[in-house]
Amino acid sequence: MELLFYNTLTRRKEVFQPIHPPRVGVYTCGPTVYNYAHIGNLRTYIFSDILKRVMMYNGFKVKHVMNITDVGHLTGDRDMGEDKLEKGARKEGKSAWEIAEYYTQAFKNDIKRLNILDPTLWCKATDTIDDQIALIRTLEQKGYTYKTKDGVYFDTSKFEGYTKLSHQDLEALQEGARVERNPEKRNFTDFALWKFSPQGARRQMEWPSPWGVGFPGWHIECSAMSMKFLGEMLDIHCGGTDHVDVHHTNEIAQSEAATGKPFFNFWMHGAFLIIAGGKKMAKSEGNFLTLERTISMNGIDPLAFRFAAFQTHYRKPMEYSETALAAAQNGLQHLRNQVRTLADQAQADRIDPGFQEKFKQALNNDLNMPQALAVVQDLLKSDLAVSVKLATVYDMDRVMGLDLDKAAASETLPDDVHALVDARRIAREEKQWALSDELRDKIQAMGYVVQDKPQGMKVFKP
Ligand code: AMP
Ligand code: ZN
Repeated sequence: MELLFYNTLTRRKEVFQPIHPPRVGVYTCGPTVYNYAHIGNLRTYIFSDILKRVMMYNGFKVKHVMNITDVGHLTGDRDMGEDKLEKGARKEGKSAWEIAEYYTQAFKNDIKRLNILDPTLWCKATDTIDDQIALIRTLEQKGYTYKTKDGVYFDTSKFEGYTKLSHQDLEALQEGARVERNPEKRNFTDFALWKFSPQGARRQMEWPSPWGVGFPGWHIECSAMSMKFLGEMLDIHCGGTDHVDVHHTNEIAQSEAATGKPFFNFWMHGAFLIIAGGKKMAKSEGNFLTLERTISMNGIDPLAFRFAAFQTHYRKPMEYSETALAAAQNGLQHLRNQVRTLADQAQADRIDPGFQEKFKQALNNDLNMPQALAVVQDLLKSDLAVSVKLATVYDMDRVMGLDLDKAAASETLPDDVHALVDARRIAREEKQWALSDELRDKIQAMGYVVQDKPQGMKVFKP
């Protein structure tokens, strides 16, 4: 079955073909670790998790690389302002290294709670400084760079096709832009590859380089790490939509300038999580909710946030509301109950190819999760045998990642009742009818109703 993804580069849905099938290389821009991730960030990582799981569901072998930005992401849009890490460290009275380590662990903890699969490989910007310097040197040798008082810059006018991802009208953008604060920059869009440590001051994170002591610009790390760890498997690069205009545009410019080859075939971007009034949730805005706060404030399960994210297509803005989260919690609980009821009656047996196909069709059409969830509900309402429904919904959970098998295993019945139910199921499979009746009486004597349905046995409190 064809796999269609919307490619930001071409602005249309295209058939996805890996460069080296069945292997697929995916690079996700990771968090900048100067603060907790907010649920907007996490929405983007749920999107890339679904992307990855869908490729696995289609039989591809995914090599997934995610970076940790632990240096060099400046507070201003275009290489102005301070390094977010050093600023965060000052604010908290800790070292930049401590801050990075602390928020990296917090991030890993968040994604674990959301059942986001770990990447095949994590990489930190600070572990690959040499690779970044080597890439800058190549750009220098090829004549794409120039030096100013505060750093080494990429000359965007030398790279043809600078706006091929963003499709921006640069002239209009420049006119509307705030006054340029770096008069040494040749073009408004030029960006720092390397920044020098301030004169006479030492930064906590700084390295020697052929141009002077300093630290890398933010964009260069993703180019260096994706090429280093994915090699030629530059299949899909993803992140949030805010990366299109600057970060990913600059990654493409510097990478293609250095190698002369296309840098990633597919660029996929998740839309924002917004708050009431349409405002983007942002770390810098102070309007943000961490996962911890979201779950404790709303009294929900972390996976209810995952489930909530499935209700909106990844390319549409998702609005945060307490009502939507409460509905997601109920929806998830309902789904778990449905699966538990099935599991109480039968063992998972055979996957239904028809429903599997419909589910895959929805996913393979640019990750249409809302439609895929509708297929799950159609399956559960269908009159297929319980064992088949159960096997099929477990198979679908390889993509949803809602731990439905654990929900089924978690006891709604007390242990002693459950043991009798199991024994009776076996007795019935073995056609030991007298034993089956005896066990039914015992279960009923404990205050439960036992019903034998065509799909299997149902046991519940009256
Ligand atoms: P950062 O840690 O700021 O580098 O961002 C991590 C990821 O979250 C990036 O892919 C961003 O594009 C994405 N992101 C930032 N804000 C939001 C938001 N409000 N909704 C969805 N994704 C976001
Ligand atoms: Zn990146």
